[in-house]
Amino acid sequence: MGIKTSPTPPLSNPHICIIGSLNIDFVTSTPRCPGPGETLTATALNVTAGGKGGNQAVAAGRASFLTPTSQDVSVSMIGAVGAEDPYYSTLLKPCLEKSGVSTENIEESTDFQTGSASIIVEEAAGGENRILVVPGANHGGIMSDVAQIVGAVKAQEVSPSVIVLQGEIPRKTTLGLLEYFNGGVADDRGCVVFNPAPVFPEGISLEALRNTAVLIMNETEAVQMSRCIAGLSNADAAKLESLQPEELAPRFHDVAGVQVVLITLGAKGVYFSTKSGRRGVVNGVRVPKVVDTTAAGDTFVGYFSTALARFLATGAILEAFDNEIQGAVEKANAAAAKCVQRRGAMQSIPFSYDME
Ligand code: ATP
Repeated sequence: MGIKTSPTPPLSNPHICIIGSLNIDFVTSTPRCPGPGETLTATALNVTAGGKGGNQAVAAGRASFLTPTSQDVSVSMIGAVGAEDPYYSTLLKPCLEKSGVSTENIEESTDFQTGSASIIVEEAAGGENRILVVPGANHGGIMSDVAQIVGAVKAQEVSPSVIVLQGEIPRKTTLGLLEYFNGGVADDRGCVVFNPAPVFPEGISLEALRNTAVLIMNETEAVQMSRCIAGLSNADAAKLESLQPEELAPRFHDVAGVQVVLITLGAKGVYFSTKSGRRGVVNGVRVPKVVDTTAAGDTFVGYFSTALARFLATGAILEAFDNEIQGAVEKANAAAAKCVQRRGAMQSIPFSYDME
């Protein structure tokens, strides 16, 4: 157990660090979902590599391959799996590494199993998915220890300019990491891209969320996260669900000081808004056939984070990203549209050189 002590391979600027979950996905495709007590014959079972953290790391890595042989952004992953898990060594690890993600900081735990997700893809509903997650190692060892994670980030040869967090690790860890990394860019801590998926049932404190650089949510998560923000009257809270993205986003800027808010709208595309007033919608890409939407949101997060890391590596400040945001959203939206046309999680994420 414990983080490997072998030296991290030299990482070149810019650098992204993804801190999050790694899962093995058991994906069953079925014409329709069974009702209570009903048994159905499904179409197929695929065992694949997934987990929101791992998917986003793979997306960031693949986004950085502008050609099949050159990577312009280095990507590392901090996560945890079960020790000697054959699925890790044969599926997850090779997939991460072939996508240009450093696996040096993935803890191999003897106390916990690799996390898993049972995913049902309903073909009759346009590839809509239903997911049950067993956290396993994603909730133990290093993933429950903020100081250890911060130490692993600091030990990296190149300080990450972007830190990516999601909601599949313990809430306490996420709050601690948000508070630490949102604490000051001046201290070389990197900009946080936070994708609160799934939203913790207990919510997120305003203190932790305060000054998050980038918040990426789907429409449901945007409503759920709005409830976390202080300053809402009960009447407001009841009305949240009927609010449009352009009504939800300003609350995150004004109340929590979030710099960039991105609300993904499924087939309709993405709403974006910045604290300094840049806002708009990038329409969804019309695709011939939606096969499986698994990892579409993660593809968007990874691609957007890579664009941000490239921008910050020029020495520019986050506020100046306003001029680049539309292009970054368009590229990430196009990558996510590619993803929905393929089956699976990590395997469905496109490489950048394969995007045209
Ligand atoms: P998931 O949980 O399925 O990964 P999500 O709920 O986090 O996704 P969505 O808003 O559903 O997020 O989708 C994320 C992005 O994927 C969208 O903003 C869009 O860019 C792309 N996308 C999703 N569905 C479609 C679709 N049917 N056609 C084209 N693009 C899509």
